[in-house]
Amino acid sequence: MTDTERPARILLVEDNETDAGLIARVLRREGLDVELLVAASEAMVRASLAAFAPDVILVDLTIPGFSGAAAVALARAWDPSVPCILVSLRIGATDYVPKQHLEALAPATRRALAEGTERRARVQAEAELQSSRSLLSALMDNVPDHVYFKDADSRFTLISRSMARSFGLEDPSEALGRTDTDFFPQDQAGLALTDERNVMASGTPLVDRAERETWPDGRETWASTTKMRYTDAEGRLLGTFGVSRDITRRVEAEAALRESEELYRAVTDALGEGILLHGLDRGIYACNKAAEAILGVTAAELIGPPRVDSDWRAIHEDGLPFAAPDQPAMVALDTGEPQLGVVLGVFGPTGDLTWLVVNSRPLIRRGETAPYAVVTSFADVTALREAQASLERGRAMRLALAAVDRRLLRLTRPADVAREVCRVIVETGQLAMAWVGLANPVTQQLEPIGSYGDTGYLGDVIVTADDSPLGRGPAGEAVRSGFPIVVDDIETGASMVPWREAAARYGYRSVAAFPVRHGEATRGVFVTYGARPGAFEPETVSVLSQLATDVALALTTIDEAAQRRAFEGVLAESERRFREVLVEVRLAAVIVDEAGAILFANRFLLDLTGWEAAEVLGRSWFEKFDPAADRTDALDGYFGLPAGSGAAPQRSPLVTRDGTVREIEWSSAPVRDEDGVVVGRASLGYDVTERAAAEAEIRRLNVELEQRVLERTAKLEAANRELETFSYSVSHDLRSPLRAITGFAEILDRRYREQLDAKGRHYLDNIVEGGRHMGVLIEELLEYSRLGRSQVHAEPVELGPILDRLRITLADRIAAGGGTLAVAAPLAVPAGDPVLVEQVLANLLDNAFVYRRPDVAPLVTVSAVRRGARVVVAVADNGLGIAPEFQARIFEPFVRLHTADEYPGTGIGLATVRKAARLMGSEVTLASVEGTGSTFSLDLPAAPAPGARR
Ligand code: ADP
Repeated sequence: MTDTERPARILLVEDNETDAGLIARVLRREGLDVELLVAASEAMVRASLAAFAPDVILVDLTIPGFSGAAAVALARAWDPSVPCILVSLRIGATDYVPKQHLEALAPATRRALAEGTERRARVQAEAELQSSRSLLSALMDNVPDHVYFKDADSRFTLISRSMARSFGLEDPSEALGRTDTDFFPQDQAGLALTDERNVMASGTPLVDRAERETWPDGRETWASTTKMRYTDAEGRLLGTFGVSRDITRRVEAEAALRESEELYRAVTDALGEGILLHGLDRGIYACNKAAEAILGVTAAELIGPPRVDSDWRAIHEDGLPFAAPDQPAMVALDTGEPQLGVVLGVFGPTGDLTWLVVNSRPLIRRGETAPYAVVTSFADVTALREAQASLERGRAMRLALAAVDRRLLRLTRPADVAREVCRVIVETGQLAMAWVGLANPVTQQLEPIGSYGDTGYLGDVIVTADDSPLGRGPAGEAVRSGFPIVVDDIETGASMVPWREAAARYGYRSVAAFPVRHGEATRGVFVTYGARPGAFEPETVSVLSQLATDVALALTTIDEAAQRRAFEGVLAESERRFREVLVEVRLAAVIVDEAGAILFANRFLLDLTGWEAAEVLGRSWFEKFDPAADRTDALDGYFGLPAGSGAAPQRSPLVTRDGTVREIEWSSAPVRDEDGVVVGRASLGYDVTERAAAEAEIRRLNVELEQRVLERTAKLEAANRELETFSYSVSHDLRSPLRAITGFAEILDRRYREQLDAKGRHYLDNIVEGGRHMGVLIEELLEYSRLGRSQVHAEPVELGPILDRLRITLADRIAAGGGTLAVAAPLAVPAGDPVLVEQVLANLLDNAFVYRRPDVAPLVTVSAVRRGARVVVAVADNGLGIAPEFQARIFEPFVRLHTADEYPGTGIGLATVRKAARLMGSEVTLASVEGTGSTFSLDLPAAPAPGARR
């Protein structure tokens, strides 16, 4: 191809320099832009053909020793497409140049140049075509992708070798003229056909669509397919051309990745430990469910770049701030070293302190030394720490108490015992104050006998043991119930109201009171105060209960020692008298030792059972008198607790010699030896056999009576249901005759009114009005009976929309008296049946506007207020009010306090209200003051709060 920019290269085969110069001049003069090389010999021609690559060769035919023909042959051999022009100047040795000859040279050269250019272009194009053909076939033979051409009828015209292989063909040419249906399943071939038609029709290519393919050999692959139409140079549609690449590996890898990612998610979310992933920028990139739960925030709130204004405040175990850069994840990022077992407390956005044990491990890529991220796992150990701390405190207290226990028994004055106990417990338990009080039997006041701490409080307050307001605090309660009483927060604990102010003055925030009891008798109380709410954890309470028992024991020991000293002399005498009584008394009397062996049995018992004294003494009670009893049964459970303990006498069976069983009610007292050690028990028993039989009879009668009541109730309920069905069908059936009466009465009124005299018209009016009233009555009765026929639902009931509707329905009623319907916002949301609730409100509101005082514009207020787990919906009016004696009755059907002339109505509205309320398991209550107004209230369970978290 001749570059038009460069001068044409002309090789002039000429040995005469003058001629050569002449020819050059002629060509240039004619405006040809040429570069001329003159070759004067055959050798030069040969050399210059290759080196110069001439576009045209001019050959002088008369070169000595080298014929022009030979030069042409040389040139042809080199490149047959280069034109040669033979020049015959015939100028010889003269300077003379015949002008007419040379004039033809320039046009001939120009033509030859043009021809050469064209010929070369053609050759080049052919070569290019050839090379693109071989390129295509090389491509079709070697690409791993499936490449194919199809004609406009989707028949293969060319497919790549790889595709032929997948089709199971020896050679691509075997696919010619065949279609997808020859190779693929029906649906797949159909889809391809549709795609190709669309591509041909629209001209829009289908690009990179992932498809599932099934091959003739049953192989299944994933392919990414691209199809486009192809046309000839004139734009005529030839068919389609497609490439599809096997992406099975990629799809499978993606699926595997997705699966492993899901697995990772599932695993991390299943962990109880929180997990966070920090990136190099110190932001959080991922977290699991446990992290959200422990930190009390959502993933959306957690994940993101590091925040400077963070709401989080972290502290060390000792409470000192934990600076952000020192936190384990940051240290691991900075140092590349794992940070394990770091304890850290965080204050969340709500201010709660959560204790965490944190492990941060850097993630480092192979071959690198600096981490690219850090994985942090943490467990919430708040509860664990608290439990440990509480155990620790408990342990410390137990140790202190063990030391004090022995000392207590040596103290001989109750006040010393009390003060020592209070001192130890206040000091080791980190409590604010403690005191021990005994009940004054006359005043019932609990009087302190010893205390420790700032006891100014005790001078300021009075506590009693009886069931009066001052006895219902923890101390009085503990004395009466015999159980420890703990008030975790004095500020809110209701039982501390009488002492709350005084306690606040001394900084007492919690209190625990323990009965000081020995055996069954409660002698007093041991009261302790903490400087923080919740100071009395279970562990502390357990230790303090133990201590209270020790106090009781110590006090009892002191008492007994004193008593023994005082009464030693009297004892012998009293014992003698006691024996006499036991022998003579008309009750069963027995003394057994601690193992149950009989030491004494009185006459009455022997007579009752038919044994002789010698037969029973020294024998086991159980063997003789109750063979069926469980002998491991403690004597307490058999003969009852010591008399005077306040415990009820114990009833046990007594088997007589002849096998009849009597029932005895026993009371016992311990029998002690001279050292005061309990060696047995003396028991007195009433024979209550006859009484027990009577009691059993009464119980039987009671059960029978209950059964009868149940049966009767069931019958009544059935009758009630029947009655309801009856009244429903009656009211239903009454409708059509009534419609006839009112209908004809209205016709009469319209057409014949004029023919009637005044009396007739009055009667007619009465018929019409009576019919209308009866119509209303029947509708209301129907509604009343219909209530509860459909399923009653319980769901959250939004009162706002219901009230909006009723405001419209009742618009006339409200407007009539210039009334106002007010709603006390916010309205709590009850759970109930929306239809029933609406019915209740409709009836109550209607009444509230009807029963107005003639001279007062009605103001009706609806409210719904949460009361614990319930919501009270109330309708309050400022109307007539209802006298107390009628308040109960107006809920019955047809009960009215007013005549229809005064106020319209049927007396069914409130019956409907009550029935609807009962269907929802509730009641309607009424508070009313005659001449002032009424409030009707409906009490329903509160709807569960929506979207409660955690
Ligand atoms: P009705 O309104 O159709 O007469 P109800 O059963 O609704 O029947 O009411 C029964 C009676 O209770 C009424 O006739 C009326 O005397 C009295 N009553 C009801 N609601 C009120 C109220 N808000 N204020 C005063 N009286 C009322």
